[in-house]
Amino acid sequence: MHARTESPNDLHLANGTAHRPETLRMNTGDSVTQTFGADVFNERVMRQRLPKDVYKRIQRTIKHAEPLDPEIADVVAAAMKDWAIEHGATHYTHWFQPLTGTTAEKHDAFLVPDGAGGALSEFTGSALAQGEPDASSFPSGGLRATFEARGYTAWDPTSPPFLNRAGGGVTLCIPTAFVSWTGVALDHKTPLLRSMDAISEQALRILKIFGTAHGVSRVMCTAGAEQEYFLIDRSFYFKRPDLLACDRTLFGAKPPKHQQLEDHYFGAIPQRVIAFMVESERELYRLGVPVKTRHNEVAPGQFELAPIFETANLACDHQMLVMETLKKVANRHGLQCILHEKPFAGINGSGKHLNWSMSTDTGVNLLDPRDDTHTNMQFLTFLCAVIRAVDLHADVLRASVASANNDHRLGANEAPPAIMSIFLGDMLTDIIEQIESGSPKSTMKGGKLDLGSRMLPQIPRHTGDRNRTSPFAFTGNKFEFRAVGSSQAVAWPATVLNTIVAESLDFVATELEKSLGKNPSEAKLQQVVKGLLQKLVKQHKRVIFNGDGYDKAWHTEAEKKRKLPNLRNSVDALPVMGSKKNVDLFKKYGVLNKEETESREHIYVEKYNKQVMIEAETAALMARTLVLPAAIRQQTEIATAVGASEAADIDVSSLRDELDEFNDLITTLRARIGKLEKANDVEVADEHKKSVHIRDNVLTAMLSLREVVDELETRISHDLWPLPTYRDMLSIR
Ligand code: ADP
Ligand code: MG
Repeated sequence: MHARTESPNDLHLANGTAHRPETLRMNTGDSVTQTFGADVFNERVMRQRLPKDVYKRIQRTIKHAEPLDPEIADVVAAAMKDWAIEHGATHYTHWFQPLTGTTAEKHDAFLVPDGAGGALSEFTGSALAQGEPDASSFPSGGLRATFEARGYTAWDPTSPPFLNRAGGGVTLCIPTAFVSWTGVALDHKTPLLRSMDAISEQALRILKIFGTAHGVSRVMCTAGAEQEYFLIDRSFYFKRPDLLACDRTLFGAKPPKHQQLEDHYFGAIPQRVIAFMVESERELYRLGVPVKTRHNEVAPGQFELAPIFETANLACDHQMLVMETLKKVANRHGLQCILHEKPFAGINGSGKHLNWSMSTDTGVNLLDPRDDTHTNMQFLTFLCAVIRAVDLHADVLRASVASANNDHRLGANEAPPAIMSIFLGDMLTDIIEQIESGSPKSTMKGGKLDLGSRMLPQIPRHTGDRNRTSPFAFTGNKFEFRAVGSSQAVAWPATVLNTIVAESLDFVATELEKSLGKNPSEAKLQQVVKGLLQKLVKQHKRVIFNGDGYDKAWHTEAEKKRKLPNLRNSVDALPVMGSKKNVDLFKKYGVLNKEETESREHIYVEKYNKQVMIEAETAALMARTLVLPAAIRQQTEIATAVGASEAADIDVSSLRDELDEFNDLITTLRARIGKLEKANDVEVADEHKKSVHIRDNVLTAMLSLREVVDELETRISHDLWPLPTYRDMLSIR
């Protein structure tokens, strides 16, 4: 898609340490290098403002995930407050990611009365390190009874505080974890950090085996999430109750021109959209979010933004800021940014590709195959561990992206299927086959692509083409998990991915340590590793699939021959989280205890139910109060025309046919509204049973209602139709 210019240094971008290219200049005249991270309390600011010893100690906490010393918290807090106030801040907030999938904040002013009629500004180390937002109304899946609703936020020093500018005010935001009084994780951040510890511990064991752990104190997960989104004119948004309530259209006939010409994809970006993008990027730069790529996506009105990767927890925080910023800035441009996975039926939905790898704190990407990959046993070990993880834990990986929204996308003919499989490409597949038959001996070379003109450079060709249909693809030096939903908080799928890979690395390290004993020779190391990799490939190669993931034949093969799980929708997928295997998995690696896992399953099922019920009620209401009256008006007009024509002695047979047909459509419409309302009225206490009812009865009733509404849309006079159409909304200029 675009050149890779990243270096491991970019990992530290958000802390302001990496060198930025000097050439980027924004059309406002600000140089990016001057404004990048300007609103972040980053390493550079800390170096300037903290006493040397405090600075050193806080850096140790940040870089090596060492616990924060309460002694220095007061000093850091005071410096942070001064910096924030100098930048116009009046308030501070602990910023956290509750399980709603959004972010939460509760603002407190820096000011305290001084008892003499004036006010002082105050911000202590304890106010920085810990907060108690109460926040008893966030979903906890039974983890907290309201009467003991204490929730604490705890500063995550590895993610730098930043300034949020909104409504003319400035607020200092302190990224935090959100836990209950008893230490139970109530957010996405806490388990993510725990899963990163798990990866680090297990990956270090592998490095020790290969003798490459020297100087490495931590292995980090790296992540970069590409965000797809739609833009529509805001005036349309306010006229669509479905968009307002559900962020997706529940009705809407396909326009004559949608994406069949494929002329939007990578096309010239409309002026108005560019203005929005430039402003969003400027805000994100100030927040230290390294956004890099922008382009039109496949569907009309659809766009994409991609950042440069960072350590996973930072990337996940930044991803939340990306979503918030896009929404906020769009509004200023009279646009609505829609992050829903499937806002419009019949055209592509939006995803969020989670690019993921592991890297040492010395900057070595552990998934970089390098030249002569077949000799790079350490890489192959990490690769096979990931393959094993995805095969063994496909169920929970699938569940990590399950939502009512994503159900419209996964498995439909545009997004990766709900079957978890891995795309490796030709070069690695070839090596994997060599491993299977004993010992890898060669690495396939891509060669040069001759463009047939002496003017054009010969470009090096990758050994494999891209495969856009795979849910989990190896793309050069990282994996790309493509099943993630566009509106989803990426922290959760990242947590699951980290955990399953940590488990796999643990297994591999344990096997190798057992067979190798103390101080093995190089020859023995090679032989033992090859033996284990061969075993892993034999056992888990069924999950590797390089073909077309949209092909029906693949679905049959995956299920029937390879016995891969196909959890088609959220109702099937979510309950696997609570299985004994998965509860034990999260527990073993200290990511989630039993109740934390079960509460998450509960929250997601409940969210599914609530979300679809809101849609169903909105659909019924819109059909009854907007569509039906329009249809009746249209019918009246035809009836009037029949009467008038008869009076004028004109042949009315075709008008009468039209009237009859309209009458039938209205009868059908009313029947289907009734059916949906009836399905909506069923009371089911158990949330799991309720989700089955919703999937099997409510969603189907909504779909059949939609059919007749969309039919009416194409037959009712434009001036009588009460809703903006797809044609109106999707042609953004
Ligand atoms: P493409 O989608 O064409 O492969 P890139 O190679 O530029 O595009 O990468 C897409 C995303 O993957 C970017 O967000 C990029 O920062 C991220 N990425 C690249 N390398 C890594 C890595 N080692 N770990 C995590 N993410 C990465
Ligand atoms: Mg990509």
